Amino acid sequence: MARSPDVVITPGMQRYIDRNNAYLARRGQYIRDVVKKMRFDTIAVHGLYTVEDAIEDYQGAIIEPVFMSTSQAYRDSDEMAAALAYLIPTWCYSRIANPSTYYYEWTLALLEGYGFDGETACCSTSSGMAAIMTAVQPFLVHTSHHVHEPRNFVATAQCYGGTFQQFNVRLAEERGIECRWVEDSSNIDEWASKIDKNTRFLYGELPSNPGQGFFDIKLVADLAHSHSLPLIVDSTVATPALLRPICHGADIVVHSATKTLTSSGFGVAGAVIARKGLVTSVPNDDLKNDFSLYIKYLPNRDFGPNLHPMQAILSLNDMRTLRSKMDLMSRSTMKVAEHLQRDKRVERVEYLGLKDHPLHELASKYMWLVDAEHDEQYDKPVNRYGHLMSFCVKGGPEKARLFFDKLQRIWRATDLGRIKSVATIPGISTHLQQGEEGRKLAHIPMNMVRLCVGAEHPDDVIRDIDQALDQVK
Ligand SMILES: *Cc1c(COP(=O)(O)O)cnc(C)c1O
Repeated sequence: MARSPDVVITPGMQRYIDRNNAYLARRGQYIRDVVKKMRFDTIAVHGLYTVEDAIEDYQGAIIEPVFMSTSQAYRDSDEMAAALAYLIPTWCYSRIANPSTYYYEWTLALLEGYGFDGETACCSTSSGMAAIMTAVQPFLVHTSHHVHEPRNFVATAQCYGGTFQQFNVRLAEERGIECRWVEDSSNIDEWASKIDKNTRFLYGELPSNPGQGFFDIKLVADLAHSHSLPLIVDSTVATPALLRPICHGADIVVHSATKTLTSSGFGVAGAVIARKGLVTSVPNDDLKNDFSLYIKYLPNRDFGPNLHPMQAILSLNDMRTLRSKMDLMSRSTMKVAEHLQRDKRVERVEYLGLKDHPLHELASKYMWLVDAEHDEQYDKPVNRYGHLMSFCVKGGPEKARLFFDKLQRIWRATDLGRIKSVATIPGISTHLQQGEEGRKLAHIPMNMVRLCVGAEHPDDVIRDIDQALDQVK
């Protein structure tokens, strides 16, 4: 971070800075020499928490401890001054940084950066919505003294209902920052036609919730960069086990860790992962060099959307088995989708894994089970498409609700990404607030059921669906 001009470095502060620089150099080398050579599962299990860390600092605790402390005490004023000037890493105050959230952040930075030859960093947030807000706000600042500086951004209309509201209501209606929706995100010309000199970033969700929208990440990233703009991607549905957008040129990835990343349903959490040295026309070197650290130390310090350390460790613990869970749940979802496709009482089954889905080929270019080629079960790359799908019940909204009400094992909830199968009707829940026009824009008919298949045996999920369909008369 750029040093503020009125910080005077005393010899005592310099000793702390030197000591910490030596520590950071050792950590950097450990990441380069050891962690970057580990497979995905090993990183998911261990992250940056080592036996040495545990023994030296945490009484040998094999699980990362939950630091339920608001703040850190310092040895003396020199250490405090260096810490509060951000000249050394610090846990100064839990709204800014905390050792438990630190381990959560590093695991996510490393997983999203798996296979990427640059550096990534992560800033934890209290929720997925907070992740989106904190990822986009820094690009919307005024860059001139023009009071009515026009600003806009371009985003995929097929997105999570909360995102639609944040962009359409909070940013556009309430703050006058124009949101330009891309209706068909697989059409690169539509993206291009929406960009002008006042555009600040491109934003895309993929695969989208619930509509299974998908776009060519590399093409859109190249388009963004040709205008000196960053590409921000919501990768909640895919998780880094299936897709790592930064490897394909995206600058920032946002996650609702509430969902598939954790799948336990133990709480709400989010994350912003950015590659270092991102592309933007906003003149701010700290933001460009290390976006995650920048938002952590400055805007998020001032806005306060921080993650609780207890939740950080709960979420971290759930991510350790991400790859195998995604494999299992993706395979089961495929089975359920194929079954539904054969059922005459159902129309429009949307799942990217289905061969006749219009975006199947494009999604297959990007969605791969990480490390399948190193898994003796597969020994070669295999496509996996996640556990979110949707379908429409024939006969309209009433029939869809009838079917929905008869489900026994599948939970009725406005939730997704669970280890337990969960279904919702987006039109009366997640996508209710955006109204009919908004739903049309996002391709969400009222008889659409969103289903997220969990880790049960797929036969039992199918049995539940069948008995519910049998009762729709
Ligand atoms: C749920 C969700 C969000 C919002 O995350 P929260 O943790 O609920 O705040 C954002 N994007 C997608 C794709 C989601 O499914």
